[in-house]
Amino acid sequence: MKLETLALRIADKAEAPTLEEAILQGELPSSLDCMVWTGRKTREGLFPRMVRDADGRPLMEPIMQRAAPLIQFNGKVQYVNRLVFEKTHNTTLGRRKLRNLCGESLCVNPNHWMKQPLAEEEQPVEEAIEPPMDEEWTTEEAIELLEMYLTTNETLDREHALLIDIPPDLLEEALNQMGKGHLLDG
Ligand SMILES: [Zn+2]
Repeated sequence: MKLETLALRIADKAEAPTLEEAILQGELPSSLDCMVWTGRKTREGLFPRMVRDADGRPLMEPIMQRAAPLIQFNGKVQYVNRLVFEKTHNTTLGRRKLRNLCGESLCVNPNHWMKQPLAEEEQPVEEAIEPPMDEEWTTEEAIELLEMYLTTNETLDREHALLIDIPPDLLEEALNQMGKGHLLDG
């Protein structure tokens, strides 16, 4: 997927139009408002995690996991807040964790996240950085992109930045499900 597509999708799903330009320019957005992700996210709730007691013995303890924003990019499901942070800070996070500053775990405004200080990273809190799974394209995702595309286009251009990454059979299935199969003839 092209960066243009990614920037457009993220700005749309965060309902923050200025984020598109910020991502493309590699600059922090000037807005200090929360940009709350409305797209796909991880499940929120209590999950058992292995921790160690004072004597270093492992035990299972429930840990509250907040919802995190997800997007499919370059064939992988990725955390949106981390992607936006990387693109607007011109950096690569690798295994470095981010700390949220605004209390909204679904916020993707890079001004509201900072790199976790290294000293704290060494503390034995297990936290997943990798999203739980890589997924194939879903029809829902294709429909989401098609709906965005069709707000400004009336005919089908498979080479358009929003559509070019969708597998052709999925694109057709999505259009049929939307009752817009006739666009395939155009
Ligand atoms: Zn925020």
